[in-house]
This record gives sequence, structure tokens and C-alpha cells, in this order.
Amino acid sequence: MPTAQLPTPDIETIVVGGGVVGLAAARSLAARGMEVMLIERHDRTGTETSSRNSEVIHAGLYYPKDSLRARLCVAGRHQLYEFAAENGVAVNRCGKLVVATGEEDLASLERIAQRAQANGVCDIAMLDGAAAQRLEPEVACIAALHSPSTGVIDSHGLITALEGHLTAGGGSIVLSTEVTSIAVRPDGLYAVTALSTGSSAERTTAQTTITAKNLVLAAGLAASDVAKSLKRSWRSGYVCPATYLAKGHYFTLAARAPFSRLIYPLPTGAWLGIHLTLDIAGQAKFGPDLTWIESLDYAFEDQDGERRRRFVSEIRRYWPSLPAGALQPGYTGIRPKIYAQGEPPADFAIHGPATHGRDRLVALYGIESPGLTSSLAIGDYVADMLLGPSRG
Ligand SMILES: Cc1cc2nc3c(=O)[nH]c(=O)nc-3n(C[C@H](O)[C@H](O)[C@H](O)COP(=O)(O)OP(=O)(O)OC[C@H]3O[C@@H](n4cnc5c(N)ncnc54)[C@H](O)[C@@H]3O)c2cc1C
Repeated sequence: MPTAQLPTPDIETIVVGGGVVGLAAARSLAARGMEVMLIERHDRTGTETSSRNSEVIHAGLYYPKDSLRARLCVAGRHQLYEFAAENGVAVNRCGKLVVATGEEDLASLERIAQRAQANGVCDIAMLDGAAAQRLEPEVACIAALHSPSTGVIDSHGLITALEGHLTAGGGSIVLSTEVTSIAVRPDGLYAVTALSTGSSAERTTAQTTITAKNLVLAAGLAASDVAKSLKRSWRSGYVCPATYLAKGHYFTLAARAPFSRLIYPLPTGAWLGIHLTLDIAGQAKFGPDLTWIESLDYAFEDQDGERRRRFVSEIRRYWPSLPAGALQPGYTGIRPKIYAQGEPPADFAIHGPATHGRDRLVALYGIESPGLTSSLAIGDYVADMLLGPSRG
């Protein structure tokens, strides 16, 4: 149905999911004059993947040329540094070393350098072991790729700033409210049914249905579940991606780290390996590892100490003098993958009408790393899909 014939909805646009991606999309839409309501199931925004990650601003080294991950990471990185500077969000453009610890790593390191250049990341430099050690005396490697534009950001500060922009732009945020089903009405509006996730007394009474002209699904780990109720209205042949869960554990370092840059081993497929990152206060952590799981569970698992032993052995390949007993259990995060174990890695899936056949709807799946780095660029990309490219 053409937009002109639609009846007046309760709200022009609903965004489902208040992680960095939903917030950035809602902010971008509100900044372009749309009436936006963001619905989040928890009592705060950003409590799922958006605050359980490495907080790294990636340069864009690893992703295939022209993929959405490559394009949105590079664009998003520039936007994020600018946004952070303008809004007082703490960042540290500390740089990173990707290290080759043996001859067998050299070809992979060269491939990463080529991929980075193809992605427009032109400030990288290949270093021999001695040059890498002049930057980071404790690192053990025979060569390294130095990426000076990699950094870290205070993800909580980013979430707060995005909220501020959204509400200042006239958008609203509805918390403790879970979207349980979505229907397409015969008149073309979306009917979004949501349930209060507040106290149990409220829950019995607080189911509500709100109509919207436009819909953005940015539900992260629940992306496929939220899209499920729209199943019958997709274009024939469209298969909504399934979401698979891959958990990552972090250990923190009990002492001050003798590094001022992030240290990454060579990746294994799409997994970046047990790397060392620093938070905004300079606290070092290691991880995340990768374990495929069946259902959401953030528990830190290492009852028999096997995980710690594996971390120590991986870390000592690039930091031989990691002190004994220095690793402490940290936290976990869960990646929303849209490929199963053993399948080739997938790009971000940002599906609009041309893909799924529904007007005025953008659905995002598989927004794993570098989703934090890319968030502002993803927000603009979603707004362009709904409104057409901005001239601003
Ligand atoms: C271990 C790990 C490390 C990472 N490290 C980095 C990194 O260093 N750099 C980087 O760039 N990226 C990193 N990422 C990726 C980045 O964190 C994510 O891409 C990003 O946070 C995704 O944001 P999101 O808004 O899509 O998802 P989320 O933050 O998960 O937000 C989705 C929101 O939707 C809400 N929701 C779900 N269902 C419903 C519903 N039915 N109704 C209402 N609300 C709902 C959820 O409660 C949640 O708040 C990492 C990810 C992981 C897991």
C-alpha cells in the first residue's frame, strides 16, 4: 500500500531494541525529523551485548572488501571518534599490534595488511620484531602490524550520549517493555504488541498494542525471535536468518599491564583469538574466547580451571612473562551469529523491503563485532533505507 494511503498510526516509527544499534538508528531517524519510539525489554538501555564486549574501536582490518562490516566499520570509526569528542565520551586512541609469533604467521599477517588497505585503512605499518618491541618492550613477536587508529571507548558513556541525542531530538524511550508479537494490519500499519516486564502485578495488566508506520528491528540476540511473528508476511522465498549464540569469556589482569597498546594474535577464521585489550581506565583484560551455546547464559564457566590454563598458554605466546596467578575471572558476552558452527562467517544482515518484501521495515540480524564501532554508521544506513539518503 502506498504511504499516502496509510491511516494515522499511534507513532510514526517504532525501534525494537535499545542497544547501541537501536539507539543509533532511533537517533538518526529522530535527527531527520521522524517521530520515534524505542522499546527496550530491560529497565535500562544497553545492558545486553552493547555492554558485554571489548569496547574496541576497530580500524577495519579484517573484513572482506566491500562487505557491510568493512564499510560500516571504517565509516563508523570516523563517526565514533568525532561523536565522542563532541559529546565528552571517553576514548583512548591507543593503537594496536597484530603480532606474528612464528614464521607460519607471516603470510596471514601480510593478508591482513592487504585487506586493511583494500578497506581504506591506510595508516597501518608493518614492523619487524625489534621495532614492535621498541613500542611494546614486553611483547614477543617476529613481526607485527601496527594499527594506530584502533582505540577503546567507554561504551556506557556512548549509550548515555546516544540516549541524550535521541530524547533531545524528540524521540522517546520505553523501558521494561518486551515486544511479544508484530502483525501487519490490512491497512498496512504495523501493530506492535508489547508486555510490561516490570513487577508481576503490572505484567498481568500491561499488555498493549501500538500502531506504527515504520519499524526497525534491532533486537540483537533476540532478532530472529522478534521477526518470527512476521513470518507469513515476508516475500515468498525470503528466509529470515536464524540466530546462533557464541559465548565469549574474559579474564582480567590483577596487576597493571605493561602495555599501552592492544595486542592481538592472528585470527582463526572469524575469531580474533585471545587478545589483550585495555579499558578506558587502563585495566587489561584478555578474551573473548568462543563457545557455541544453545540458550542465553552469561555465567562465567571455569570450574576445573581448564579455561584459565588455555588462556595462559595462548597469552604467553605473545607475553611470555605473564605472571602466574595473574588472571581473574571477568565477565562474558554473547555474539549473535547468523551462521552455525563450521559454516563460513556471514556479513551483517540489514534487510529492507528489497530483501524481505515488506515496505517501511528494516530488520537487523547478526550484528556482532564490529557492531559497536559501526553503530553510528549503521544508524545512518537504517535511516537511509527508510527515508532515502540524507543530504546533510
Ligand atoms: C564478546 C563480544 C565482544 C565484542 N567486542 C566488540 C568490540 O570490541 N568492538 C566492536 O565494535 N564490537 C564488539 N562487539 C560487538 C558489539 O558489542 C555488538 O555488535 C553491538 O553491541 C550490538 O548492538 P545491538 O544494539 O545490535 O545489540 P544489543 O546490545 O544486544 O541490543 C539489543 C537490545 O534489544 C533488546 N530486545 C531484544 N528483544 C527485545 C524485545 N522483544 N522487546 C524489546 N527489546 C528487546 C535487548 O534487551 C537489547 O537491549 C562484541 C560483541 C561481543 C559479544
